[in-house]
Amino acid sequence: MRVLITGAAGFLGSHLCDYFLGKGHQVVGMDNFITGKPENLEHLSGKQGFSFIRHDVSDYIFVPGDLDAVLHFASPASPNPNSPYGYFNLPIQTMKAGALGTHNTLGVALAKGAKYLLASTSEIYGNPLEHPQRESYWGNVDPISTRSVYDEAKRFAEALTMAYHRFHGVDTRIVRIFNTFGPRMNIDDGRIVPNFITQALEGKPLTVYGDGQQSRSFCYVTDLIEGVYQLLESTEHYPVNIGNPQELTVLEFAQLINKIAGNDAGYEFNPAKRSEGDPQRRQPDISRAKEILGWEPEVTLEEGLRLTIDYFKDALVTR
Ligand code: NAD
Ligand code: UDP
Repeated sequence: MRVLITGAAGFLGSHLCDYFLGKGHQVVGMDNFITGKPENLEHLSGKQGFSFIRHDVSDYIFVPGDLDAVLHFASPASPNPNSPYGYFNLPIQTMKAGALGTHNTLGVALAKGAKYLLASTSEIYGNPLEHPQRESYWGNVDPISTRSVYDEAKRFAEALTMAYHRFHGVDTRIVRIFNTFGPRMNIDDGRIVPNFITQALEGKPLTVYGDGQQSRSFCYVTDLIEGVYQLLESTEHYPVNIGNPQELTVLEFAQLINKIAGNDAGYEFNPAKRSEGDPQRRQPDISRAKEILGWEPEVTLEEGLRLTIDYFKDALVTR
């Protein structure tokens, strides 16, 4: 296959590039580096089968040659209002990546007769009233909150993807990604994993927003990428949750990271730093992924965290 991966210089996009190249496919990466970094692709420079186009997906996209698949991962992804990389601080760019970027990438897939995979998110469930979240749940999203720039752009993106499938017959897939972590996360994007790990490595108390009773479920990146690939290889057009169902409160997560990193500084509560609309609970129901793809996560949270801590030790040196 020859595949276009948008958001290629980001956390998930760069792992996708590695995975597809490792399977012998050709990859065209595309990114404008708004939250991602050229360093994430440095190891691929000059590699056979890999090419890169620096481009904003919100503008018309031109890719020379044939394409067999388009994977649209370009979008700011961190909700942290305290980070310049957080989508609260990139509101228009986030809406454009989800809306215009999805339109343009679907247009590329249609023109090339390529399969299409949209990176959607558990955020489309909003602050969920159903737990765990199944794909059949429609969500609880405030359309005008500061958080809505991400949530509503992704909901629009899902709707547009289904419209291209139904109206134009594009062979589409939608993956609803739950919190995923691992090496190459942006150290400064303010998400819980880079924040807690860097704080723990620096011997500082971990910044627990709110009372820490909100929950998340964390999936290691290699499991996520495997699930995405299997979804692309399937014939499923409806959304599929990919994530690790092991649910922890933010406080439990802080304690676990301190234990693994050997940090004695504990944690401190920062109620004011919790973002507007921060979901109270989040856990994927992965029955559909198991049934349709035969997929489930294999890497334990502890194992994934150790690998990620090793990465951040090096990243801190060059920060
Ligand atoms: P990331 O910030 O590391 O990567 C996103 C990449 O997209 C960056 O390299 C950024 O520069 C690029 N980008 C953003 N806007 C662009 C534009 N207009 N044109 C070109 N490139 C652009 O984030 P990530 O965690 O790798 O997320 C990747 C995708 O997966 C996003 O679509 C995100 O919504 C989705 N997702 C991620 C998670 C997660 O836990 N990591 C969860 C749910 C959904
Ligand atoms: N969080 C926290 N301290 C931090 C960063 C995040 O307590 O330093 C909390 C945040 O309020 C949220 C959870 O951790 O409840 C996950 O946040 P993240 O930014 O990783 O993304 P989200 O899961 O909300 O998309």
